[in-house]
Amino acid sequence: MNIRINIFPKCIRDAFVTGFLFVIMPVVYYFEMFVVLPKYYKQWSAWYNFHFVIGTTILFNICSNLIAIIMCDTSIKGRVLPTDLKPDWRFCSVCESVAPPRSWHCEVCKVCILKRDHHCMFTSCCIGFENHRYFLIFVFYMLIATLYASYYNMKFIKNFVTFDFSWTSIFKIVFPLATLFMEWTQNQLFIFLILIVFFGAGFSGALLYFHIDLMLRSVVTYERNTVSKYDKGKLENIKLVLGDKWYLVWLSPWIKSKLTCDGINWDKMLSLKEK
Ligand SMILES: [Zn+2]
Ligand SMILES: [Zn+2]
Repeated sequence: MNIRINIFPKCIRDAFVTGFLFVIMPVVYYFEMFVVLPKYYKQWSAWYNFHFVIGTTILFNICSNLIAIIMCDTSIKGRVLPTDLKPDWRFCSVCESVAPPRSWHCEVCKVCILKRDHHCMFTSCCIGFENHRYFLIFVFYMLIATLYASYYNMKFIKNFVTFDFSWTSIFKIVFPLATLFMEWTQNQLFIFLILIVFFGAGFSGALLYFHIDLMLRSVVTYERNTVSKYDKGKLENIKLVLGDKWYLVWLSPWIKSKLTCDGINWDKMLSLKEK
C-alpha cells in the first residue's frame, strides 16, 4: 500500500465534513456507552461489559478502516507507467502523465486516481482502486454501529422526552441543531445525538446498498449506468474490490488481501477473461 503523504483536507467543505465526523464519533461513543447503556445495565456488570466490548470493537474497526482509507494513496503518483499512450489510456494534462483506463482526475485531490469511484468528503480523499475495500468495511461497520445504537436510543428517548405534539416540540425534533444553539440543554443535546445516529443508519444503509450493487456489477459510481466489460462474475468482482481474502477483511484492515488486478494494466484482466 502506497502511503499518502498529505492527508489534510484540501478544501473548506472537506475540512468541515471530515472535522464533523472526527468530533461526532467519540461524542456519540461516549453518549452510548456512558449515558444510554447504564440506563439498561448497571455499569461494569456482566451484560454492561458485554455490550461495552462489542461497541468498542465496532468503534475500533470503524476508526482503523477510516485511517486506512485516508492513509492509502490510490493515485497514479509513484507508479510505473508506460511512456507511450496505449489503447484506452489517456493523457492527463494536469498530472502531465499518461493515465490508465478507469482512472479519473480529481479536481479536489488534483491528481488522477486509479479506478476512481468518488471523492469522499468524510475522509477528504478519493475512494479508488486500493482503498475501496476499507471504505466498504467502514460503511458496513457504520451501519452496524448506528443500528445497534438506534435500538437502545429508541427506548432511551421514551424515558426523558415528553412529546406533546406542540409546534415547539416538533421544531425541537425537526431542527435539533438550531434548537441546540438557542437552548443549550442536556436533553436537546441528547435529541441531537439520537437523530444524528438515526440518520447515520439510513445514510450508511443506502450507501452500503448502492456500493455493494456496484461491486457485484464491477462498476464504479461513474460507470453505474453502463455494463462493465470487466464483469467476471460476482465472486471475481468481489475479489477485485475486497481481495482474495474477501471473507476475512471485515475482521481488520491489517489482514492482507491481495487484489486480483494492479489497477493499471486492465488489458491483462480482459485477456484473462477470454481464456
Ligand atoms: Zn490527472
Ligand atoms: Zn479526490
